[in-house]
Amino acid sequence: AKRQGKNTWQWYDCQNAERSFNSVNLRHELHIALKESQFELYYQPLVDAVTGRICSVEALVRWRHPVRGLVSPGDFIPLAEQTGQIIPLGLWVLEQACIEIADLNTQRERALCVAVNISSLQFIRDGFLDDVRQVLAKTGLSPELLELEVTESVLLKGVGSVIDLMTTLKTLGVRVALDDFGTGFSSLSYLRDLPSHKVKLDRSFVEKIRTDRRIAAIVQSVITMAHQMGMVVVAEGIETQEQREDLARRHCDILQGYLFARPMPLAELKKLPDFLPGA
Ligand code: C2E
Ligand code: CA
Ligand code: CA
Ligand code: CA
Repeated sequence: AKRQGKNTWQWYDCQNAERSFNSVNLRHELHIALKESQFELYYQPLVDAVTGRICSVEALVRWRHPVRGLVSPGDFIPLAEQTGQIIPLGLWVLEQACIEIADLNTQRERALCVAVNISSLQFIRDGFLDDVRQVLAKTGLSPELLELEVTESVLLKGVGSVIDLMTTLKTLGVRVALDDFGTGFSSLSYLRDLPSHKVKLDRSFVEKIRTDRRIAAIVQSVITMAHQMGMVVVAEGIETQEQREDLARRHCDILQGYLFARPMPLAELKKLPDFLPGA
């Protein structure tokens, strides 16, 4: 047998590269990955739809797996949510993003905001607010530079408690963005009820805006209504010049997508110019 020590069996198993993660192994490997800091953050810029200036970056977690290489969050976040490991992982992401962007900002003329994805489980858990306070105190990042991205699934906990939490975060100076808007069980009324400052239109809308007139109408309503509520609108997944023009013409404020930049390691982000033309 290739079993040499307490923690070595999984490497043997993983050498079978064709095999996808099996959930028992994955759970164990996630545990090791957390202990051995195998995660890293990539950052994707968000640009002003009119000027192309980078206004913020979204932190996107990656797993630098010793055998499998770079693993995408889609392949491990869902299981981490099932096992509860999303709690320590999510805290690591929050703290690491604040450390890295606070540091980056010392070298910049204009400070960058950082957006961190927060799993619904993490967001509605008792103690989340304390975590945010502690991370801000520890890292020194100004609260105004932190934005939390949550999806509508936080509402499963009940609208009232989510409103309270968002209101408290707002008092701290931390903003909340509604991510993947338009997927899930979204309703326009959430725009009215939730004290969030930003709504991110999901990529599935951006993709169909040209071909589906109903989608185009929904996009237009969301933008108009969000603006009436004083909210900023982001469109994600912009890949083409046409999509960029369609969204800009509809007064979408901020754009994000491969057209401007892919998610990248911190070292690359440091070298990026302030304006991204979106060639
Ligand atoms: P998301 O929050 O909707 O993040 C946007 C995803 O779209 C990212 O995938 C990004 O790389 C991808 N993307 C950006 N621009 C384009 C584009 O123009 N075209 C296409 N096709 N894709 C684009 P990624 O990094 O694989 O992340 C997938 C999802 O995993 C995220 O979706 C988010 O739900 C989750 N996730 C990532 N990092 C974290 C994290 O730290 N914590 C939690 N809880 N979830 C995370
Ligand atoms: Ca997001
Ligand atoms: Ca999103
Ligand atoms: Ca999305």
